[in-house]
Amino acid sequence: MSAKVIDCVAIANEMKEELKKEIEDCKSKGASIGIATLLVGEDFGAKMYRKQVEKFCQEMDIDYINANPPADSSEEDVVKIVNDLNNNKKVSGILPLRPFPEHISDYAIINSIDVNKDIDCFHPYNMGKLTLGEITFAPATPSACIEIMDREGVNFEGAEIVVVGHSNIVGKPISILALNRNATVTTTHIFTSMAGNLAKHTTGADILIVAAGKAGLITPDLVKEGAFVIDVGINRVKVLDENGNPILNEKGKPKTKTVGDVDFDAVKEKAGKITPVPGGVGAITNMMLLRNTIKACKIQNGLA
Ligand code: NAP
Repeated sequence: MSAKVIDCVAIANEMKEELKKEIEDCKSKGASIGIATLLVGEDFGAKMYRKQVEKFCQEMDIDYINANPPADSSEEDVVKIVNDLNNNKKVSGILPLRPFPEHISDYAIINSIDVNKDIDCFHPYNMGKLTLGEITFAPATPSACIEIMDREGVNFEGAEIVVVGHSNIVGKPISILALNRNATVTTTHIFTSMAGNLAKHTTGADILIVAAGKAGLITPDLVKEGAFVIDVGINRVKVLDENGNPILNEKGKPKTKTVGDVDFDAVKEKAGKITPVPGGVGAITNMMLLRNTIKACKIQNGLA
């Protein structure tokens, strides 16, 4: 039987309406609410993400501040910009967009963000609180995975959850959030695959969360019958014809499309529930970021 495909766009739209009301409530109490992105230089991927955040802020009618010093700025100058954003009452949350240029240390910038404006949980203080199971700004993408599971009525206690990927921003915090909810969590990564052990773990998963950034990594033989599969991956791949050759667009360049890390069409026939890409976790990530921004606004304005 084919899996239930989770309609993450519908979840995001539902959340949007809930959060709009909270924004109005904050504004009616005199609080200003906004997000500042910090991009040093002109990284293409980071600029794409910035555009998306700016559009989202417009749509939700909150302030947006674009801090974009040139790539040759000194670390000291960038820290000064962060301090200005920390002191700016229009800025509820600061979102550093990486990669930073090589001469600028991630830690120097992230450690200078006010912990009450750290809406994607980059600061070690907030990551520490997350690890201890204390209330903090849980990072957006990992929280989006938890939100999906909550809305699908998952009972975390004792659930066998396997996470593929252990990056500091996605895989590791997902594992911590699930562990904090008393799931039995296994975190796998490239060395698990290199040791030939990935299938051994993933086939035991009631819930399989994949955040590796490798298109087609998860095939049906890696999935337990009836499992809940959450695909966090976002990959651009060439569109191929039935012979495996790239299909060209009108400019003669290979057509591309966005896919996750899961072989969706094949795994859908074995899983119980599955999230699609596009229109999956990514759709809810922005909502989680906004939820954290509202929380930050409330803390800063004594409304929490
Ligand atoms: P990342 O920093 O590259 O981390 C990828 C992780 O996957 C690493 O832990 C890596 O292990 C592991 N990995 C790579 N190949 C593997 C394999 N063959 N078998 C098992 N593990 C493997 O990426 P990220 O920032 O965590 O992002 C992961 C994916 O999620 C990307 O596709 C990204 O675009 C997407 N993403 C989506 C959203 C969203 O809102 N939907 C948000 C953020 C990211 P090692 O570290 O040991 O090499």
